[in-house]
Amino acid sequence: MFQRHYAVRDGVLAAMDAPLLVIHGGAGVERAGTGPAEAAAARQALEAALRAGHAQLKAGKPAVDAVSAAIQVLEDAPQFNAGRGAVFTHDGRNELDSSIMDGASGKAGAVAGVHRVRNPITLARAVMEKSRHVMMVGDGAEIFAEQQGIELVDPSYFRTEKRWQQLQEALKEEAQAQASNTPLVLPGKAYFGTVGALALDAQGHLAAGTSTGGMTNKRYGRVGDSPIIGAGTWADQRCAVSGTGWGEYYIRDAAAHEICARVRLAGQSIGRASDGVINGDIPKAGGDGGAIALDAQGVVAFPFNTEGMYRGWIGADGVPHVAVYKDDPLPMPAY
Ligand code: ASP
Repeated sequence: MFQRHYAVRDGVLAAMDAPLLVIHGGAGVERAGTGPAEAAAARQALEAALRAGHAQLKAGKPAVDAVSAAIQVLEDAPQFNAGRGAVFTHDGRNELDSSIMDGASGKAGAVAGVHRVRNPITLARAVMEKSRHVMMVGDGAEIFAEQQGIELVDPSYFRTEKRWQQLQEALKEEAQAQASNTPLVLPGKAYFGTVGALALDAQGHLAAGTSTGGMTNKRYGRVGDSPIIGAGTWADQRCAVSGTGWGEYYIRDAAAHEICARVRLAGQSIGRASDGVINGDIPKAGGDGGAIALDAQGVVAFPFNTEGMYRGWIGADGVPHVAVYKDDPLPMPAY
């Protein structure tokens, strides 16, 4: 079922490693807060997600199927801030956001602020494929989920002890800052553990998806970049991006779309375009985070400016490659 794609790179015609699937599990991983058992479990989940997405591509399925399959595995894994391991809001709830975009058709679907949907990426996909809308929020989105037969769970399903403790810590920091009248820079400590996936299928089509619990201690129905098409997620015929980081900055910069616009309009490589936005514009404005980016020739970029970013890819040979910290070796796909 695999079709060999060829791309001209540096004047050389080279076979590229397509179909290709690229994932991230968030740019907030820190050595200090991650024990070896947790890091190993996260790596295992990343590998399982890569295999699940790759199985779709191997069966000749479109890129959106691979993106959705990979993200579902990551949503079910408690190590990531999406689905099961979502962070807590100020009020001790879990509010989930997700989006998906099909680069071939330009269609997109997104949901925000849902709290009973086990796999928000499946609902984002249903919005894209089964409705006239692009984005649904809160209760309305959950009514639609019910109508579509999408699995709902009791909100307690999303509660994990680690995330609860992170909220307690964030609340404490907030109270201390208020007591000493110092401005709190972050809305609670940020634990970027959003998950995302990009796929290039055997037909050469791209797709992108992202899923998150948002940021610890968020309130007032805050929504970040992850479910916003063009901010946290973008796919067109040449370029696909999923972001992870301080969402407010990604929204202001239309980060995912901006990267692809630089590829399309300015003729920049995926590496240069994504580095310019993630490691240039975002920190310059005061934000931080990372992203994964993939072009239609199978060129991949993993820019981030935090201590680590769970990330990985799988190509035609079906071997998952995973890395966590900046200095971890990660071979790049051949193209
Ligand atoms: N970007 C997400 C948000 O702001 C957070 C993350 O990447 O973990 O909601």
